[in-house]
Amino acid sequence: MITANPFALDGQTALITGGGTGLGLGMAHCMVATGARVILVGRTESTLQQAVRELGPMAHAVAHDVTELDRAADLVSAAERCTDTPVSILVNNAGIHLKKLAVETDPDAFELVLKTHVLAAQALTQAVLPGMLGRTHGHILFTSSMAGLFGIPYVSAYAAAKTALIGYMRSLATEVSSQGVRVNAIAPGWIETRILKKALEGDEARARKILSRTPMAQFGTPEDIGWAAVYLSSPAARFITGVTLPVDGGASMGF
Ligand code: NAD
Repeated sequence: MITANPFALDGQTALITGGGTGLGLGMAHCMVATGARVILVGRTESTLQQAVRELGPMAHAVAHDVTELDRAADLVSAAERCTDTPVSILVNNAGIHLKKLAVETDPDAFELVLKTHVLAAQALTQAVLPGMLGRTHGHILFTSSMAGLFGIPYVSAYAAAKTALIGYMRSLATEVSSQGVRVNAIAPGWIETRILKKALEGDEARARKILSRTPMAQFGTPEDIGWAAVYLSSPAARFITGVTLPVDGGASMGF
């Protein structure tokens, strides 16, 4: 059956970690524009409130540190209380960067990267899944990276985390997709945000290398990721699960 607008997210409620800035905020903008309610999760109340003002009445915020793994269920309850609707889209997007040679990366720093990206995503996924499975409706989306697809120097911890998310996403997709819950990942290319600025600071050669291997010869915008997130979360993608979609101006296939 052809729906009037299969790309619309009317009636959906999306919880977006790291939703107050960068890619998360871009996804929030695009989801609100297509009819969803969004709940932004981050650590800094003032950043979240600024984002909520930008987004308007369909946006809410809950301040929360995703590395507090045993509080994941409390976060989902708080989010559902503030919108009075169940979370139907979970975007595991919060992340930190670590640019260091592998030989200089100490175990504590490595662990924090894994905890922020992977363990936090697992805890939140577990917290939303029973509700989604009970309603036989949901979409769980992970923000991976080019570092999950090919080798990039100085980011061993980050690459380990982003690759782990893809494996977790695939396995989960095989378990829950027959029960109305789809699971996917986006692998953003190089997108202009705070994390990218930090990664490229004082490293002109790296910036040149990125652009030279990106067929579109430009960095992306948070909205480029946002529209991909809308598509994957929408009824238009109802037969899509277990994929990692590069949104990268061609970087992952460019030579
Ligand atoms: P960003 O720094 O603006 O966003 C990261 C967000 O995560 C921030 O809002 C931050 O507050 C939040 N966060 C970090 N640790 C947290 C914690 N413990 N609890 C709650 N929130 C926490 O940078 P971004 O580029 O928008 O990054 C968003 C995601 O996209 C990250 O997972 C990043 O790895 C990924 N990514 C970014 C790019 C890029 O080029 N910008 C490329 C590929 C992947």
